[in-house]
Amino acid sequence: MKDKLDNMLHSARELISTVASEAELQQIKIRFLGKKGELTAIMKGMGQLSAAERPVIGALANTVKDEIESLLHERLERTRAAEIDRRLQGEKIDVTLPGRRGERGSKHPITIVTEELVAIFAALGFGVAEGPEVEKDFYNFEALNIPRDHPARDMQDTFYITDDVVLRTHTSPVQIRTMIKQAPPVRIIAPGTVYRRDSDLTHSPMFHQIEGFMVDRDISFADLKGVLTAFVTSYFGDNVKVRFRPSFFPFTEPSAEVDIACVICGGGGCRVCGQSGWLEILGSGMIDPEVFKSVGYDPELYSGFAFGMGLERIAMLKYGVNDLRLFFENDTRFLKQF
Ligand SMILES: [Zn+2]
Repeated sequence: MKDKLDNMLHSARELISTVASEAELQQIKIRFLGKKGELTAIMKGMGQLSAAERPVIGALANTVKDEIESLLHERLERTRAAEIDRRLQGEKIDVTLPGRRGERGSKHPITIVTEELVAIFAALGFGVAEGPEVEKDFYNFEALNIPRDHPARDMQDTFYITDDVVLRTHTSPVQIRTMIKQAPPVRIIAPGTVYRRDSDLTHSPMFHQIEGFMVDRDISFADLKGVLTAFVTSYFGDNVKVRFRPSFFPFTEPSAEVDIACVICGGGGCRVCGQSGWLEILGSGMIDPEVFKSVGYDPELYSGFAFGMGLERIAMLKYGVNDLRLFFENDTRFLKQF
């Protein structure tokens, strides 16, 4: 029996010294020390021993058990350390490799156009104002002389939040908010996001406008023409032809749309200008006395003009972009070009 125990310890020692994984060590533990293991089997034969032999063999069996356990434990520690080493080798950082550069962003073309227009009007003495995109009916329609039954209020065009609250359909409510707060003289431009229920090649449900207005004593249509001509020539070039064409808006009287000679064909006629040689770029007019009344300005004392334009349209003309949707898809290949 003593020989059996010695042999067992010997073979366990050999096995354990060659093992390289935790799983194998576990198997060895079961093979020798488990309930059905070799040591247990030997111990079961103890009953046949004499009373003198029993304690000797018992002590030896315990020594063998302790020895195997400590061998297993030691090997396990070494296996784990080796595993950590192996992993550290694999995850080593090579500090001599070149770094990855973060890509530099660029300004969105609509932002560029907005900043350029703001700069031009700032040079003409205009300040910048902003207003909420979720707007009360009063500011978006009522105060701008757009009564309840006006076609501009058609459900087709306006996003209604409630009967009395809308997503603003133009930047004109900023005019109203500014005039209510501030007595003349005022000279303001208001760039911002606006919303309409419309979506195709040339319309987006969300787009951008810039609104401008000027109110003081003795402001006339000549001032409107002067300011807008100065803007057009400084933005599209000194030689660009400008024309003012009679139009209608509920909040201005008289009203005029402003065209420039087509930037694509130079006025000869092409697909972009519909063969007319002209491109419409903004709407304008003398502020209607009804609007002044709704903000508490005396129309007998003050007069003024207002104008508004779509920033996407200006950007399309300036950069020769033919699909409005490109501005909203955020494809970096498109955006990088500006
Ligand atoms: Zn043209």
